[in-house]
Amino acid sequence: MRPFRLIIAFILSAIFSATAVATVKASSNTLPDMGSSINKVLPLNLEQQLGDYYIRILRQQLPIIDDPQVRNYINELGFKLVAANEDANNRQFYFFVINDPSFNAFAMPGGYIGVHSGLIHNADTESELAGVLAHEIAHVTQRHLARRIEQQQQLNFPAMLAMLGSVLVMMKNPEAGVAALTGIQAGAAQIIINHTRSNESEADRIGIASLVKAGYNPSGMISFFEKMLQLSRYSGERLAFLSTHPLSQQRITEARDRARNLRGYEKKDESKFLLFKQRLASFLPKDFNPVKRAYEDELAKYTFKNRPLATEYGYALILNHLSRFKESKAILNRLQDKYPDSLYIILARAETEIASNNPKAAIEILNELFRLNPGNDSITMIYARALIEDKQLKKALDMLYLHLPNVEREPSIYEIIAEAQSKDGLFKEVHESTGLYLYHSGDLQGALAQYKMAMNGRSNDPYFNSRLLARIREVQREILEVH
Ligand SMILES: [Zn+2]
Repeated sequence: MRPFRLIIAFILSAIFSATAVATVKASSNTLPDMGSSINKVLPLNLEQQLGDYYIRILRQQLPIIDDPQVRNYINELGFKLVAANEDANNRQFYFFVINDPSFNAFAMPGGYIGVHSGLIHNADTESELAGVLAHEIAHVTQRHLARRIEQQQQLNFPAMLAMLGSVLVMMKNPEAGVAALTGIQAGAAQIIINHTRSNESEADRIGIASLVKAGYNPSGMISFFEKMLQLSRYSGERLAFLSTHPLSQQRITEARDRARNLRGYEKKDESKFLLFKQRLASFLPKDFNPVKRAYEDELAKYTFKNRPLATEYGYALILNHLSRFKESKAILNRLQDKYPDSLYIILARAETEIASNNPKAAIEILNELFRLNPGNDSITMIYARALIEDKQLKKALDMLYLHLPNVEREPSIYEIIAEAQSKDGLFKEVHESTGLYLYHSGDLQGALAQYKMAMNGRSNDPYFNSRLLARIREVQREILEVH
């Protein structure tokens, strides 16, 4: 079995057979059966396999932020909206943020939804961001990719082949594949689809309904649309998002009419969203000094007592990047007294203690929190880091192994496990974990080399070699499929 070749072969053969079916249907003057014809073009399980494969390639190409707090925020928000979309059951979803200042978001095959940090930076409320996610989720649940393939096979056959060709090139040689597209940032969206106006209208309709059901203000979606139009006019260039999701004044008017008829949301507390935005912003700069001055100018606009929580938090994170730990600790401790329940503040305090070589203080901050929230990804990852710095390697590894099934596709979990194993002298295991890290980052050859290295030497684990042999066979099979 070679699933990826199979997918392409299947899509190509479906294009030919579906064209024939469409011709017959048209002549017999009956309406085509949408659902079953879409499943012929791109069956769900094949779409999922394509997406699962594609996300690993993207991880090599794009700066996906693997900070647990960022990934947890965006997935929590995404899954709240998935739960409010009736067509979303039985579909898998995964949300991720790309560290990129441009304004973009896209849905890939298999329910993988990416958002650029630049888009989030431009959202003033959680409802605005939720509007974009709800819209992208609807593109997935309404099978717009499969429907587009179905349309393109009739409308523009060469373009369809070119799109599939790019997928093939990308699978064989990710770098050439991405270079062949219109640039790395837009690559993912370009390779998927430019949505049609009717796709957009449907995604708006379903997106707005799920927004309201999830308790968000649907007018956030409309205000964000208007902001997009303004931004693109102001900057004089088209936003990447607007080139794949065409936006007209008519679409905005339609969405506004829909939102007007839907009520029942409550006013949201925006503080968590604003803290998340600050955390995201702290990953973007290359030079933190001018950013620090910008924060100081902003804070100077307020009296000491009235300084906004999120701005002070963001300032503390920037101070940490500049190793000014004493100042950031003073700010975070003061914020903690004022907002004792904020997870962002508590975790930032722990991170600051770790960064300033004081892991015991971090462990003290996290002990109770971890006990009360077992399985929480953000807390577990920082706690494990503190334990490693405190040389409590066995305890850190036990905790990470237990947590692994929750996040088994995240490369960062294997990175931290490999670090703990290396400090604990478990060298065979280090190669295995590094192999898993590379595998989930899309580097199959690198993974294979690490697994082979892991076969040398001894391990106390009697199942180690047989497990490794299975991993080697698996990755060799995948390499053969792709080439
Ligand atoms: Zn769209």
